[in-house]
Amino acid sequence: MKIRVDEVKKKRVDLNEEEPAAHYPNLVEMEQAGECSFIAPVHTELSAVWEYDHVRAAGKVNTAAKLTCSRCLAEYEIPVSSDFTIFYTQSSGEQLDEEVELSDEDLISVSFQGDEINFDFEIAEQVMMEIPFKPLCSEDCKGLCTECGADLNQGDCGCDRGTVNLKMSALKKLSIDK
Ligand SMILES: [Zn+2]
Ligand SMILES: [Zn+2]
Repeated sequence: MKIRVDEVKKKRVDLNEEEPAAHYPNLVEMEQAGECSFIAPVHTELSAVWEYDHVRAAGKVNTAAKLTCSRCLAEYEIPVSSDFTIFYTQSSGEQLDEEVELSDEDLISVSFQGDEINFDFEIAEQVMMEIPFKPLCSEDCKGLCTECGADLNQGDCGCDRGTVNLKMSALKKLSIDK
């Protein structure tokens, strides 16, 4: 998703586009690393306006991902949605293309060179930020039995997982003794 800077200097540019996740190298990398898989196209709505010395791009990105619970290994799906406001400041070419987080954490400032702005990198970043680092199918997922591997969300398997409990009570005893 790109705009020409001279065009946005004249008037506001509205974009509404859908791309497969495969269009974004960062998202492909996430899928290859097994962090998640994207099960819907990445839909982006964005309005770009010229303000003083920068382009203000505000919009929303939507997709959906399939994740694997880090406790019980079950697959589950989540909607992914993020609102963003990004300031694109033209750089002379001498400074590095560095992304600066402004004090307001919802605002991002990026520098660009040339007469075109490509939004793809930041769009992918917005999606990546919404993917949990340690996915959980639910906050109180009970995980798998350490003895037999049964999914404890389906009910107790009846295993004696006493070794863990023994350690726990030993620890409790220690703190009581002190
Ligand atoms: Zn789970
Ligand atoms: Zn078990």
